[in-house]
Amino acid sequence: MNSAEEPITDLLDRLAAVVPDYPSPGISFKDLTPVFADAAGLKRIVDEVIAPFAGEYDVIAGLEARGFVLAAAGAYAAGTGMVTLRKKGKLPREVHAEEYLLEYGTATLELHQDDIAPGSRVLILDDVLATGGTVGAAVRLIERAGGVVAGVGVILELDGLGGRSRLAPHRVHTLQRV
Ligand code: AMP
Repeated sequence: MNSAEEPITDLLDRLAAVVPDYPSPGISFKDLTPVFADAAGLKRIVDEVIAPFAGEYDVIAGLEARGFVLAAAGAYAAGTGMVTLRKKGKLPREVHAEEYLLEYGTATLELHQDDIAPGSRVLILDDVLATGGTVGAAVRLIERAGGVVAGVGVILELDGLGGRSRLAPHRVHTLQRV
């Protein structure tokens, strides 16, 4: 089959790696790095995760670190800029900070206070949506910085962890539920 015709869920089943008990016992880690490493895989996931939001955003925000891959590629393809939402202590200038709960632990996400032009429509991209804690922090940061969340695009959505409902009423587009 021509790879462009392969259903995206088949492509993800074929290329994504599942690592049991990583980074801690009981967690089934979904590793998308083999999808990023595949020429057709990277293009398909980036094109398909941004497609439903065409014309609805001014800039793409990526969540450290795997979200950076998607956001940079998506922004380049769409002709927009890209904003980095980073883990605590990585950004050099004045930041907004939001703490959140992870599926495994707690963390803080930061955004430069002036990285988003007031009123900009921001598309948020990340690799995996689990509890929605990380993207929820990203939503709060973008709104505190004066942006408007245009939507959330994620490659894999883990069922049963409440991520999608935690992000309501924001539009969430995922390529596969697992
Ligand atoms: P959450 O805040 O619970 O939605 O977790 C989402 C963030 O943690 C994303 O940045 C993911 O990359 C990462 N993550 C959480 N759970 C998993 C998992 N089971 N496999 C891969 N990444 C995960």
